[in-house]
Amino acid sequence: MRRLLLAGNWKMNGLPADGAALARGLAQRLIDAPAVDIAVFPPFLSIPGVVAALKGTSIVVGGQDLHPAASGAHTGNTSGEMLKAAGCGSVLVGHSERRSDEGEAGEFLAQKTRAGLRAGLQVIFCCGETLEERDANRTLSVVRGQLADGLSGLTPTELERIVIAYEPVWAIGTGKVASPQQAQDVHAAIRSWVGQTWDAGTARAMRILYGGSVKPGNAAGILSQPDIDGALVGGASLDAASFDGIVRAQAQEA
Ligand code: PEP
Repeated sequence: MRRLLLAGNWKMNGLPADGAALARGLAQRLIDAPAVDIAVFPPFLSIPGVVAALKGTSIVVGGQDLHPAASGAHTGNTSGEMLKAAGCGSVLVGHSERRSDEGEAGEFLAQKTRAGLRAGLQVIFCCGETLEERDANRTLSVVRGQLADGLSGLTPTELERIVIAYEPVWAIGTGKVASPQQAQDVHAAIRSWVGQTWDAGTARAMRILYGGSVKPGNAAGILSQPDIDGALVGGASLDAASFDGIVRAQAQEA
């Protein structure tokens, strides 16, 4: 019932010409992709070239960030409305690198979530614990707190355009991947929290992605877990062959 979503977060990598070339490579490789949703999140300046390269495919382009306001005196920022007008269908909110690099948290992220919905975008809301928090047995309380801060007050209809990405900070860009069971346990707890906070139907429909050093070689084990509905992939999404390998790894499990 929940369609898998494989999302590639390119972070601050590649010049616009590199992004367009990567997008063309993905379009070619994924022409016969299995029935999953695929999205890529290029740096802002690469978005127009990537949108052009992916025209006519079902691959969605998204923004890595947005400002809560639609427009105004916010030097250096980009609004959801601008992303939408540029051809984006999705946006990341609350990625751990923005939490740590830019100090983003709490109500500010809730405003960003609402701004993404206001602009008509899907919002992929990221959460995850640090190694210190995991070692202190605080994983679930940290994750639930981040989700409550970012998503509370949304209606079940609004939640239809929210995807949650569970990304343990200790697994992002480190090569250390959570075991399928470690990830499944947190995903199941998140789904149960969604059910308690809203309702069982909303919980059943909510897509929850895993992120953290997903590669072609470890994707199948992660994606075969019952509460894992896809992956948010950083490093391995920068190479068309390896992202394609992740998309096809899940197909072997489906
Ligand atoms: C990410 O950026 O969201 C991510 C999961 O990165 P990586 O796959 O490189 O760990």
